[in-house]
Amino acid sequence: MVTKFFKVFIALTMCFVLGSCTKANEEKKEDIIEPTEEPPVTETLREPVSDFIKSLDKSKPHKFVTFSFDDGTVQDKRLAELFNKYGIKCTFNINTGSLGVEGTLNLQDGNVDFTKLSAEEIKSVYEGHEVAVHTVNHPDLRTLEDEDIIKEVNDDFNTIQEVMGQKVIGMAYPGGPFYNRRVIDVIQNNTEIKYARETSSTYRFTMPNNFMIWRPTCHQSEVKNLVDKFISQEAKEDMLLYVWGHSWEFDLYDSWDEFESILKKLSEAEDLIFVTNSEIYYYLNNGF
Ligand SMILES: [Zn+2]
Repeated sequence: MVTKFFKVFIALTMCFVLGSCTKANEEKKEDIIEPTEEPPVTETLREPVSDFIKSLDKSKPHKFVTFSFDDGTVQDKRLAELFNKYGIKCTFNINTGSLGVEGTLNLQDGNVDFTKLSAEEIKSVYEGHEVAVHTVNHPDLRTLEDEDIIKEVNDDFNTIQEVMGQKVIGMAYPGGPFYNRRVIDVIQNNTEIKYARETSSTYRFTMPNNFMIWRPTCHQSEVKNLVDKFISQEAKEDMLLYVWGHSWEFDLYDSWDEFESILKKLSEAEDLIFVTNSEIYYYLNNGF
């Protein structure tokens, strides 16, 4: 849906450097030492889960908090800095088909910068957080052929892993509810995606029961109404506050200060565990 509002110019440069070794080949074969083979990228990727989560005591209930922000726009830099300031983790869902592309969203409530972070920027901006798939080009997946759904997911997946050096576990459906049973089946059967978030609020603090239709507690604009309730509620079983949104909305609605006060409140509350989406998946499944 968002792609309606801006034009995507993709400058994808693939550089294959071929060594010229004609001369060397003419020399004695026995002198050539085979170079140590580089391990495949997948073997060197960091797992997006902390040792703390891996060793968490499951015999008692916990109160988890996770955030999920979409589209990878430049306002994510300010947002990630806020999360870092309060020791809170987030999952950022990005479209690698538009890295570094300038744009503006023209909406009913005003115009807002929709420029995407570049490949160089995402590595530093998202350090310490999770980066997940939001597809390459942000299409309505329901309108695509199976093979194009797979390509949209897997190409985004591969680019993120390559740039971040971290394993990708999940995704957020582009356009929120733009998925159906076929889309879910195609993704589950043809990709390594283990969870997928949509956008309809539950207004509940329950742990997910269907990871391919992971509904959040609420949108960023609604969390102010729920944060006190979550903090004061005693955990009888595991609880999760899951907030999703777009950082450009803080610009559009001038709500950065309000959101920071919520993060501050959460950071000062006792017994809250701040996690990424994939850490919730890991915790409930005892692994990826
Ligand atoms: Zn989006």
